[in-house]
Amino acid sequence: MSSDMSQDDLVTSIRFRYENIRAQIAEASARSEYSSRAVKLVVVSKAQPLEVVQAAIEAGITSFGENYVEEAVQKIDSLRQSGVEWHMIGHVQSRKADQVVANFALVHSVDGSKLAGRLERFCGELKRKLPVLLEFNVSGEASKFGLPAWDESRWPDLLAEIDPIGVLAHLKVSGLMTMPPYFSEAEKARPYFRKLRRLQTFLQEHCPWSDWSELSMGTSADFKVAMQEGATFVRIGEAILGPRPKKREL
Ligand SMILES: *Cc1c(COP(=O)(O)O)cnc(C)c1O
Repeated sequence: MSSDMSQDDLVTSIRFRYENIRAQIAEASARSEYSSRAVKLVVVSKAQPLEVVQAAIEAGITSFGENYVEEAVQKIDSLRQSGVEWHMIGHVQSRKADQVVANFALVHSVDGSKLAGRLERFCGELKRKLPVLLEFNVSGEASKFGLPAWDESRWPDLLAEIDPIGVLAHLKVSGLMTMPPYFSEAEKARPYFRKLRRLQTFLQEHCPWSDWSELSMGTSADFKVAMQEGATFVRIGEAILGPRPKKREL
């Protein structure tokens, strides 16, 4: 975003892209075999400066996704009055669990029982129930977070890590999340979305303490393919807010 762009121009351009993406989501939804489901859009604001998020709120966006706890909490504190909803979609270190519990509506990226236990503890202190999704690494890419789920023959091994999360009184596990490898061609991400959906079926069978109904998958690059494979949350950043500035420009 060039710095000489006025805040009004910023609002106008974000509103235009937001409406455009929403129309694409509605169209993809109408065509998909899952058309009865409402697909929820989380607008990813990581690495975007506060002015961009303010403009996005003015453009009518009400649900934001952030990856880094400190960065997110700064924005959330500044925008407390706006009443928008924040989703944690990035890796959370256990020692930051208290800040996550205090600031987020939903955590997409619970990747183990240790983090779940810490979230449970702080939820108990704040007397709140926290909806969460479990993040899975279905590609085996070393750079990706998530419970190791690339080898389907080893899915039963995951149950020892997942079942203890089901007994935590303050966490409501409502589904699965994944981030496939990046491909310039969206179609190549399809096998990973399918694999997450198969894992959903596996968990519905083996961990019936949750309905596992939510599937958080799909970004700017591949949300339509993710929707064809049953996404209930799509997480879209750059296609709506524009390119993320490089870290040093923040
Ligand atoms: C950055 C990010 C997104 C959004 O990516 P865009 O390419 O900006 O749409 C979605 N999910 C996660 C986990 C991310 O880190």
